[in-house]
Amino acid sequence: MSIEANKCNVPKCKGFVVFENADFDFNNLQVGKSNSYEFDDPKCTECGKQYYVVPHYVVVGDPDDEPLESACMTAFMKRENYRSFEEEQDPYEKIQKYIRLMGYTYSPNEVVKRYSDYKEGSYVSFTMKDCIKNLKPELEKLI
Ligand SMILES: [Zn+2]
Repeated sequence: MSIEANKCNVPKCKGFVVFENADFDFNNLQVGKSNSYEFDDPKCTECGKQYYVVPHYVVVGDPDDEPLESACMTAFMKRENYRSFEEEQDPYEKIQKYIRLMGYTYSPNEVVKRYSDYKEGSYVSFTMKDCIKNLKPELEKLI
């Protein structure tokens, strides 16, 4: 038998939510009063607020592993966009993807045009120079 105590979350309540956490049967989950799967439905020992002990999940590579660190969708999308840029074979598409990745407003044709000007000694802006620096092989194929 193993008893677990959690602090009640009602402001100023000093009560506890206490339940037995041994023998949870994950293979026989029951839908309870909360309308979701629950192991137990203890009440706060002082204010009486109703709580539910519900199953929770973690992502592991192996049952003995530490759970994975969670990440936000924005970070995932950013990474996917970067991978898509990295894997792009078509030079025009690759330039397009780089522009989008960096949040620039150029068109690929504009970058190509400015690249030829740059090769002839024209001044280019800082962000255009960044495009040129990172897209040289693609630009060479398009001029
Ligand atoms: Zn309470």
